Amino acid sequence: MADCLFCKIISGDIPSNKIYEDDKVYAFHDIDPKAPTHFLVIPKEHIVSCGEVTEEQEAVVGHIFSVITKLAKEMNLGDFRVVSNCGESAGQTVFHLHFHVLAGRNFTWPPG
Ligand code: 5GP
Ligand code: ZN
Repeated sequence: MADCLFCKIISGDIPSNKIYEDDKVYAFHDIDPKAPTHFLVIPKEHIVSCGEVTEEQEAVVGHIFSVITKLAKEMNLGDFRVVSNCGESAGQTVFHLHFHVLAGRNFTWPPG
């Protein structure tokens, strides 16, 4: 999608600190980390949020979670948190589906 920050990161038009990439998924470090380890895993296909996933897109969302498992093991994350903010009042600022993966500190519940 032309005017999407994360589509531009996937295409390389905006640089990022890449962790992993395959034909369906891209993972990169968050520019403003909220934990010692904080990266984002996104589908290459533009999906607006986790509130806009169609049945045709469910495979890529499932794939994202196997990638998160693989990266968590490879990076020795230990315990970690996965977050997806869906909509502005839930904290979403970039409207391309993304899963935050946060690790390296203790997390409280409920989140703010
Ligand atoms: P959201 O607030 O939508 O849940 O998460 C968007 C995330 O994208 C934020 O954690 C923010 O720090 C990150 N972010 C925003 N712009 C950039 C960028 O240009 N590069 C990278 N690597 N992360 C970004
Ligand atoms: Zn996009």
